[in-house]
Amino acid sequence: MDASQSNRRKFCLKLASLSIAGLLPVPSLAACFSDSSTRQSKLSHENMSETPDMSSGDFEPGYLKLHRTGELKARAEVMWDMMSACRLCPRECENDRIRGQKGDYCSATSQLRVASYNPHFGEERPLVGRSGSGTVFFSHCAMLCVFCINWEISQGGAGRNYSIKQLSDMMLSLQRMGCHNINVVTPTHYAPHILLALDEAASRGLKLPVAYNTSGWERLEILHLLEGIIDIYLADFKYFDSDMANKYSPGADTYPEITKKAIVEMNRQVGIADPRANRGILQRGLIIRHLVMPNNVGGTGDLLRWIAENLPKETYLNIMSQYRPMFNAHDYPDISRRLTVREYRDAVAAARNAGLTNLDIQGG
Ligand code: SF4
Repeated sequence: MDASQSNRRKFCLKLASLSIAGLLPVPSLAACFSDSSTRQSKLSHENMSETPDMSSGDFEPGYLKLHRTGELKARAEVMWDMMSACRLCPRECENDRIRGQKGDYCSATSQLRVASYNPHFGEERPLVGRSGSGTVFFSHCAMLCVFCINWEISQGGAGRNYSIKQLSDMMLSLQRMGCHNINVVTPTHYAPHILLALDEAASRGLKLPVAYNTSGWERLEILHLLEGIIDIYLADFKYFDSDMANKYSPGADTYPEITKKAIVEMNRQVGIADPRANRGILQRGLIIRHLVMPNNVGGTGDLLRWIAENLPKETYLNIMSQYRPMFNAHDYPDISRRLTVREYRDAVAAARNAGLTNLDIQGG
């Protein structure tokens, strides 16, 4: 066990004592101890210093200004009302979640449900730093990916019900633990709850940047409401072909078209993610995550060329290699195996050949 593993273990043991005392939910411990993170734990970044400095400088997250003017709460209320005929995500099923109806795809009512919250060490290095990314994992998801690694949470609804006040407590707790950001994972169907909790937490001293950790399949109307509130977008870009999107995330044939527009909008709002501006810790910017799939299911080459042609070449791109067949993936022959080394190397070569310069590469 090296020094960093030792420090992490001590931190996990501290979490264990908090959990035993009833101050943290148990699932957060599993995430902390697990070495099989949904994100890669060992990253090589081509343009990063090796030893991040944790200085926060004079940074003020965007939501604080909007909190002071009252606009944050106003936007949260606009979003809340949208749940009465819900169109928070591109499914636009228009169910009345406020009256207790479940979404046709996300299965969420207006009752907030959270699977876990914890400092997470498996995200990109500029988010993790020394003290972790302050993740809040929301239950439910409208993507319905057949290979979802977290299907018990996303499609099984695992988690517990919480109030908005309790969500703001979680955010403040993560700040007290030293996390470098509040990282809301699978946030789309709970965007109103997140904004209301941010407003509450801002009044009680929250000052961390907020990372919106999304499938990328976001409506522009929602992104416009988030402008100035979200400091960091962590956007998946899963598929380039609508038939593939429809097959592996059933019914999501609009994924490529909508996600392209969404990512361009995210880049317009927050720009290039450059952790060097804060000596290794990211406070603002767009990170795109592309999970390379077996048999080119994601359309990797075309997708990377599209990024190079439509976004700055320095766009931070995490090329992820950790695909493994989970959930119902074994019912689909093309995705029923892990990625080969050759497939991953070809993806990295495609990114470089497209001229992309800010690559987060596994094991490279
Ligand atoms: S977030 Fe859920 S309820 Fe709202 S449109 Fe999407 S699937 Fe339907």
